[in-house]
Formats: sequence, C-alpha cells, structure tokens
Amino acid sequence: MLARRGEEPPAPARVMSIHAHPDDQEFTVGGTLAKWARAGSEIVTVCLTSGSAGSNDSTPADMTREQLVPIRQEEQRRACQVLGIKDVVFLDYQDGALEPTLGLRRDVTRLIRRYRPDAVVCGDPTVRFYGNRYLNHPDHRVAADVALDAVFPSAETRFIFPELLDEGLAPHKVTRVFVHGAERPDAFVSVRDTLDVKLAALREHRSQLGDWDPTEMITGWARLQGKVRRLVAAEAFRMMRLDQ
Ligand SMILES: [Zn+2]
Repeated sequence: MLARRGEEPPAPARVMSIHAHPDDQEFTVGGTLAKWARAGSEIVTVCLTSGSAGSNDSTPADMTREQLVPIRQEEQRRACQVLGIKDVVFLDYQDGALEPTLGLRRDVTRLIRRYRPDAVVCGDPTVRFYGNRYLNHPDHRVAADVALDAVFPSAETRFIFPELLDEGLAPHKVTRVFVHGAERPDAFVSVRDTLDVKLAALREHRSQLGDWDPTEMITGWARLQGKVRRLVAAEAFRMMRLDQ
C-alpha cells in the first residue's frame, strides 16, 4: 500500500520493533505500535540487552544486576501486552556495553529472517546529541546501527551470514523502516487515540519510573512531534521506502 506524500503511512502487516533496553520502545514509539496493533498488525518486540543496568535514580542500593534482569523483562512483557504486542524476544546482551559486532548483527538478521517483517522500527544511529541536555545513550546508537545494517544488506542478501541458510532461514527484504528520534522526520503517525495506552504501557516499567508520572513529558513530546502537521499528538519518523 502506498501513502501519498504527507499522508499518514498505513499500518504495516508485520512489524519488528528493535530497541536496546526494556522501556525504550514505550518512551518512543508506543503510541504508533498500539495504533498498528489495533489495526491488526502483527508486531514482535526485540530487546537487545537484558536491561541489567537500569538508571541510578530508581534502582535501590541493595539491588543487584542479576535481580534486576527478570524484573525488567517482566515489565517489558507487560508493557507489550498493554500495547497489543504478543511476541517479545530478549537477546540478553550486556546493558551499557552494547557493541556493533558482527555477532549481534547476525543475531538480529536471524530474527528478521525468522519473523519476516514488512517494517522495522528503530532509532536513529546518527544522532549524538538531543538538544543540550541529553547525550544519546551509546546502546541506543548501537541498537539502531545494527538494526539498519541487519535490514540492509544482511537480511536480504543470500550469501551474507550463509550459516543462516543452513538454519533454514531464507533471505528476507524489509520494505519499510520507521526511524524514530530523527532530526528531520518525514512521516507522522497521529497517536491522539493511543496516547493513554502508551502511557499505561510506559507505567509498567515501575522499576525505572518509581513515583515519577510521565504524563506531562510524553504529552509534551507528542504535541511537539505533531506540530508541523497540526496534529494534537504524534510520533514522528524518518521513513525509508526500500522497495521504490
Ligand atoms: Zn534506553
């Protein structure tokens, strides 16, 4: 299905949402995924790290990395349920130390060939600074880089990672990539009707949010992202069309 320039892109039939940490997806693209799930999209969430580092603010002093992992993974599963996503895959790489290795790229390529998504949702690996108060997390940059490199050329090229052929995984071409957090977005998804679902999913990450209420920040971001298209609330993407 083709969207005319300026129109909201239609919900893809099969989607893979790839992120570094539990909660990244809910902060960034939860409204879009909830909307697509309602429209019938089949979505799988891929979390590259185990989430064992978390943030200092909300991690009790007596918590260990080992204790934190199952808590955060359960929170991610619950958040996905809230969004209408049935499938979650954890690759269990070390939180805070993600590197763009060929091994990680192979692991993500394997998942793309197994789930065969039409669209991949990921971050923007080129953004180093957001405003002047947030340095983009190195794991976020790596996750986005690896996701894009797995989409092209690894997933669609037969002789890249030939061992995947031996696993019975044929090449697969992803035709759309929705890059969130891009500096010059060109595709906008109205999330007016799913902003409350996004917030509910985000609140499932209790170990990270503590008592903080994300409503004001998330509503403000949605308003800002929708502004250029005069949408009340939106999530904005750079959309790559790889079949045109
Ligand atoms: Zn993160």
